[in-house]
Amino acid sequence: MYDYLIVGSGLFGAVFAHEAAKAGKSCLVIDKRQHTGGNLHCQLIDNIWVHQYGAHIFHTSNRQVWQYVNQLTEFNNFVNSPLASYQGKLYHLPFNMNTFYELWGVRTPAEAQAKIDEQRSEFAHITQPANLEEQALTLCGRDIYERLIKGYTEKQWGCAATQLPAFIIKRLPFRFTFDNNYFNDRYQGIPEGGGYNALIDALLAKADVRLGTDYFAHRDELHAQARCTLYTGCIDEFYNYCHGHLDYRSLRFEHKRLNTPDFQGNAVVNYTERQVPYTRVIEHKHFAPGSQQPTTVVTYEHPDSFAPGKEPYYPVNDARNAAIYARYAAMADAEPDVLFGGRLARYTYADMDDTIMAALELCKKVFQQ
Ligand code: FAD
Ligand code: UDP
Repeated sequence: MYDYLIVGSGLFGAVFAHEAAKAGKSCLVIDKRQHTGGNLHCQLIDNIWVHQYGAHIFHTSNRQVWQYVNQLTEFNNFVNSPLASYQGKLYHLPFNMNTFYELWGVRTPAEAQAKIDEQRSEFAHITQPANLEEQALTLCGRDIYERLIKGYTEKQWGCAATQLPAFIIKRLPFRFTFDNNYFNDRYQGIPEGGGYNALIDALLAKADVRLGTDYFAHRDELHAQARCTLYTGCIDEFYNYCHGHLDYRSLRFEHKRLNTPDFQGNAVVNYTERQVPYTRVIEHKHFAPGSQQPTTVVTYEHPDSFAPGKEPYYPVNDARNAAIYARYAAMADAEPDVLFGGRLARYTYADMDDTIMAALELCKKVFQQ
């Protein structure tokens, strides 16, 4: 008899398993996939760690979380500096002095601010932005919106920017320095070598793991093996969709091995035109700088609609889905002997540091650490 059955070997389940072992508890971790790690899972192709479910860059301002992961595996000093490609021209991201120079030839922060003010003035009549398009135009004006935001956002979400809520881009950070670091966090990196599998292996070292096992196909048998369950799968599936299906945006990853040592000279290039079907191209070897590999592996990221059988990636946080989730959450809160955690059970987009922190907080409560 195990103390815990953990459904899902993603980051949340793995951190829980690690803390449970520290507290002297035994765990059986199951996953319906044929590998551990959830969306952090990486595959070694041509000696390059390929992020199978989308590029994962660890960034946090939380020192406790940074120390936690660094005790388990060494991180490199990768800094994410993506480029945006629009009509054959490259722009630096996030919006900073390099971008403003590329857009308008302005060279100083004062010149850039004056240009942005001029761009925004065209939309000064919009006092209450009713949708994402209006919000973006009032914040940054036409040039940035049309070249760097509109096409990417409409592809990503599969609808016109005028149909998306304004709150999605309440803030558009402008940086008036020549700094291409995408994140503002204090700590950033990728596990040494470029992949996350060693981190997950370290977290799961003391747990028993059963792969290729869907919880719903073996529910009774699995419950009989443990005193308590941590469930990190989809919350609507747990309750057999009794309040309806939660909506997601999905992605399709097209991985390609290429006979060239360097395809794009950068880990991430966004394609911000609507006509280009993918949103970004990831070149994985750049997550581990210094690779001598003569070949390379790139991934084209295609946004996709969600349907049963596809992977749920981004929750659609509109009012309808929030109301459905609230009903499931109320049921989960009242559930005896089952704990719920992770991005799918909480129907939330959570970065890795938030996922770890949420798992550690749950552990603190249940193991009274
Ligand atoms: P998951 O990784 O989804 O793990 C859940 C696991 O449960 C899966 O392995 C699944 O197979 C299993 N499971 C589900 N149902 C069942 C069932 N019925 N039976 C058995 N097993 C089941 N964060 C960052 O900090 N930086 C980034 O750059 C970043 N990039 C991202 C890019 C994309 C495209 C996405 C979608 C997310 C990104 N994230 C990033 C967030 C990161 O992926 C999450 O924080 C993390 O994966 C959450 O872990 P989890 O365990 O909650 O979920
Ligand atoms: N975005 C954009 N242009 C870009 C990159 C992002 O307009 O080149 C917008 C888009 O609406 C996207 C949001 O910013 O959904 C968040 O992008 P980010 O790269 O932070 O999110 P991720 O998809 O990596 O979680």
